[in-house]
Amino acid sequence: MFSLYRCKDCNKVFAVTPFDDKPETEYLPEEGTHEEKSLKNQNDSLSGHTGHHLEKLMPIQNTMVSEQDYREPVKEIYFEATNGRKKFLLKKWRKDIKEPMSYELIQGTLKVIVDACEFREKEIKKEWLRVMSKPLQEKGMIFLTLLKETVTGAKISKDPRLIFDSPNPLVTYQKLPQGCIRMILKRLGAAFTPMERKEIQRFIDEQNQADGVLPLLIRRKFFIEKPDGQHLQAEKPAASMPARIRHLQDRTRPTEYQI
Ligand SMILES: [Zn+2]
Repeated sequence: MFSLYRCKDCNKVFAVTPFDDKPETEYLPEEGTHEEKSLKNQNDSLSGHTGHHLEKLMPIQNTMVSEQDYREPVKEIYFEATNGRKKFLLKKWRKDIKEPMSYELIQGTLKVIVDACEFREKEIKKEWLRVMSKPLQEKGMIFLTLLKETVTGAKISKDPRLIFDSPNPLVTYQKLPQGCIRMILKRLGAAFTPMERKEIQRFIDEQNQADGVLPLLIRRKFFIEKPDGQHLQAEKPAASMPARIRHLQDRTRPTEYQI
């Protein structure tokens, strides 16, 4: 873990890790010993701020956005942090895996919008053909059409119980809500026998999960609204999107990738 500070005099942000005030050791192969390295260069982030007024900033949960995956070590991240009174927008990045993260205060407001909400037709079709019994395989298109009509126009939910994370912070998956499933089952009506409807219900229950094909794929994008009203797009190209959800354990982001 580390702490974030803003120097009020220089208006600069930097992170101080617990290791900064601990001596570092270096292995000397010729002597076969470890030598304690000088502390001189270890407080680089604090040097130059002697006698300045520092304030601690706390990252605001769930504000992190990045074009790159959580696990990508070299990336650019934007997030918000607060000193308890005021909100700040920060950029955190490094250009090389060996470099420490750099921080910069950004003027403007972070805006995240939904770019696309995708019904994963190809994947649903493939899974349907793989698991359903023969007569139902042939009725796949009827089911797909009904499903698509019902799901299209479904609202994007902020309910965390319906959201599954992906390895990319701008891609999530949204479980179909119960109301939507009830509507689909009702609409199956005359086209399917009661036995077939049961089999379809089982398919829906199994596939409306984190590793299933029914959750909608939500792609978001972000921009920074500058105080003068101009938009600043992120510089990096969009990361390649996963074709299928890879569920992150416990539905939480790994702590080492959290801010
Ligand atoms: Zn300073």
